[in-house]
Amino acid sequence: MSSKLMASTELQRCEQFVGGQFVPSVSGEYFPLFNPENGQLAAEIAHSTPRDVENAVQVAKRAFKDSRWAAHREVRVSALRALASQLRQNLPILVEAEARVTGRPIREMRAQLGRLPEWYDYFASIAETLEDTVPPFGSGYLNYTRREPLGVVGLLTPWNHPLLILTKKLAPALAAGNAVVIKPSELAPITINMLAELIRDSGIPEGIVNVVHGLGSIAGKALAENPLLGKIDLTGGTPTGRAVAAAAGQNLIKVAAELGGKASLIVFDDVDFEAAVNGAVFAGYIASGQTCVQGARVLVSEKMYDRFATAFVEKVSKLRVGPPLDVRTDVGPLVAERQRDRVLSFIETGVREGATLAYGKAPVPPQGWYVCPTVFTDVTNIMTIAQEEIFGPVVCLLRYRSEEEAISLANGTRYGLAMGIWTNDIRRAHRLATQLEAGVIWINDHHRIGPASPWGGYKDSGVGRENGIDCYKDYTQLKNIIVKTTPDQFDWFDGTAGDKRYS
Ligand code: NDP
Repeated sequence: MSSKLMASTELQRCEQFVGGQFVPSVSGEYFPLFNPENGQLAAEIAHSTPRDVENAVQVAKRAFKDSRWAAHREVRVSALRALASQLRQNLPILVEAEARVTGRPIREMRAQLGRLPEWYDYFASIAETLEDTVPPFGSGYLNYTRREPLGVVGLLTPWNHPLLILTKKLAPALAAGNAVVIKPSELAPITINMLAELIRDSGIPEGIVNVVHGLGSIAGKALAENPLLGKIDLTGGTPTGRAVAAAAGQNLIKVAAELGGKASLIVFDDVDFEAAVNGAVFAGYIASGQTCVQGARVLVSEKMYDRFATAFVEKVSKLRVGPPLDVRTDVGPLVAERQRDRVLSFIETGVREGATLAYGKAPVPPQGWYVCPTVFTDVTNIMTIAQEEIFGPVVCLLRYRSEEEAISLANGTRYGLAMGIWTNDIRRAHRLATQLEAGVIWINDHHRIGPASPWGGYKDSGVGRENGIDCYKDYTQLKNIIVKTTPDQFDWFDGTAGDKRYS
């Protein structure tokens, strides 16, 4: 292993990464990070101030101008492929660290992080092969376009999939030739610093990738408002998305925002029953429900609602709640105490508003921020638990009578990130797919993702798309170059010009 990654059991001090060096913030202050499994102090994180953010942006700007990064795509391609290879070599230590920091079961982290290199390889291939265009124009001209990087891009990322979500932004941003300043979630900064070490070893010039830490309301805000940025790209909650988009609007820069979700699964009575139950439980409780595409609302045909609810609860009751590093664990602790308290308060609201708590009182480990996987039945669409993003292991089962009602219920939230359709009727599946207001639709599956496959939301779930060639293009700006190839002279003011001109 070429990188000297920190041993995962030590108390860690997480510094900023600026200009290729790990450095303290100007204040020299740190804030504590706690272990979700037991609530104990796990790390001290550099408290980046607005001055630190300004400094990191200046460093990135200089690196963007001075290095060969922006101008030489072959340098970028080989560095991104080297980073993919570094990630493959260092996977076990990253998996363990990410499980510790987020509380997510190690089996999940292994399956998720094992795919990271694909993003760096995919976007390296786009950088290597994307051709510029020669749009039609008048004769006597060569007219061509160039895709150029934006300059410095700000990346704001959440805590639930720390490395995957950063990678979905970082790989296209770097492939397109930009420099970046990253502000990871204050709850999950450690593996981002580990990635920074691998970046240092992969041939990416110093200063092209920079990481500041600290609070969203201070460091995140300062980054979003920085006028030197060419783009700001956020994954986070919808209120944060509105604040960041407003700042981008002030500076007239591009913005991409992957925001909250409240995914519906529509289960029809013609489906393979067991596959649908298994799929819905996976959709609801993977990542302990802390994922933007969580199948938080399962809409079930009234013809089989009771049978489905019984089987669903039985399956959920068998999920093993336990420590993240145990390979037998299905549901780990939530990421932080405040998140646990928020989820518990939604469960109280559900009971108060009259939903039936069909499962959810089983004991969980006494220390740490565990929440028992919870199932509500008899949920109606106006209840708070059916509408608000809970972001925890809580699933609502709703009943519908007709296909039209299922569509109206599914579209009846302010979110539109992802939805699932469970049916064996191919015509119905495609008919519904066009009518559902969501950016990603799975048919007889859930939470499938790939670097080439566009990802993003309708409605309050965001603007822009991650993954795929359009995402790469969104990290560039187009330049049009028009070359006069004929030797004839032109003087508008001598009165010899014709009546038509391309102007
Ligand atoms: P937040 O919106 O709280 O934070 C996201 C990032 O923005 C963090 O780095 C945060 O820093 C920072 N931030 C917070 N406030 C500001 C601000 N005013 N200005 C600039 N930056 C700020 O989201 P969470 O981290 O709690 O993540 C959960 C949310 O993310 C959920 O709503 C979830 O649905 C969404 N999400 C969306 C996905 C998608 O693909 N659409 C995927 C995964 C999650 P700090 O942590 O320090 O506060």
